Amino acid sequence: MMNWNYDVNTRGNVQLSKDLNTLSVLNAIRNSSSISRSDVARITGLTTPTISNLVSDLIKEGFVIEMGPGESSVGRRPIMLEFNKDARYIGVIDFGRSNVIIGLTNLAGEIITLRELDLDKEAKPEITLERIGNELKNLIDEYEQNGIKVWGVGVAISGGVNGKTGVCIESYVLKWTNVPVRQILEAKVQCPVYVANNIRCMALGEKWFGAARDEENFLAIRFGRGVGSGIIINGELFEGVRGVAGEIGHVTVEPNGPECYCGNKGCLEYYISEGSIFERLEKLMEEGDKNAERLLQESKDKPRGKKLGLIARSAEEGDELSRLIIDDLVHYLGLAIANLVKAFNPSIVILLTEDKFVRESVSREIQAVVDPLLEPIVSSRVNIVPGLLGSENEIIGASTLVLDNVFKTIRIVPVRI
Ligand SMILES: [Zn+2]
Repeated sequence: MMNWNYDVNTRGNVQLSKDLNTLSVLNAIRNSSSISRSDVARITGLTTPTISNLVSDLIKEGFVIEMGPGESSVGRRPIMLEFNKDARYIGVIDFGRSNVIIGLTNLAGEIITLRELDLDKEAKPEITLERIGNELKNLIDEYEQNGIKVWGVGVAISGGVNGKTGVCIESYVLKWTNVPVRQILEAKVQCPVYVANNIRCMALGEKWFGAARDEENFLAIRFGRGVGSGIIINGELFEGVRGVAGEIGHVTVEPNGPECYCGNKGCLEYYISEGSIFERLEKLMEEGDKNAERLLQESKDKPRGKKLGLIARSAEEGDELSRLIIDDLVHYLGLAIANLVKAFNPSIVILLTEDKFVRESVSREIQAVVDPLLEPIVSSRVNIVPGLLGSENEIIGASTLVLDNVFKTIRIVPVRI
């Protein structure tokens, strides 16, 4: 039986064939609402006696629950098995601009508890990480006292991250360079820690529990409050050399466009980031535009990320200025997406932004922009769909970093024993 509560020292030991088979069996049960032992045998290709042994181990460990007999047209009705999503918890740390959320989820990406901590950006990163690590360890201890073990911790950070080493290479938001996040946190929380860029986490979250279930090659594009993307290739997050693959905010979409703070002209961010859209509205208001003044007034109490929703709804109701803003967003984001699709040939593209109405309406409009751009080269149409996880996708995404690392060993075919 594999050590389900594996600690830092046993990272990587899940390569043993029995462990792989146990994970395969668990995965088959996890992927189905209710399943019989013989169906698990059929899916995994393992023998029935092997399944019986592994399932009995999994029941002992609390991962699998035996339910009542299921339906069968012939013979005895089989005992059905169900995955216990609360068998273990996962720790999460989500770095925002001015705060940090720590918490726990279960194995189905459902949030158990969240706490908000202040983020002192003037403090040394080591000090900040040790403080957060201590807070999370206290939270984990509270729950472990009640008998629930924590499998690992997923960390979402804005900036370039090397997922293999757990080092934050560069974060503009946190002002960090080469910070060994995993190393510092593992020493505090005493369980495996996985680190990734926040938008890459969201992409992974959509793969596990959202719009990209079972998709192995897809793009998740984030716009609104933050701009960026997550690229999943052959089921794995693609990070690039410095962990910044997918930072599409500064790709040029208008060579003679307005100057950007990055030094280039006509960057995508100018047209699709909420901050930049509202800066433009403020300029218009200063020039005496009454409509811009009204939009700014109506949106002033809305939280960041939700202001774009007001513009999209206003466009839908026929407001001319709002329509121009959304048309620009759709046009330039569509152009960037068409280029990315040509480069990566994904099965789907997922759009992520805080407001559900924006996700849904912009997905529809962008589909109409992208389709004709792909026609001459890519024969198959690519579906552009809204993300499903909503405002908690960063936290859920961080938790799926742990799940993905535990289960990725079984992408290797199970071994017959
Ligand atoms: Zn730029």
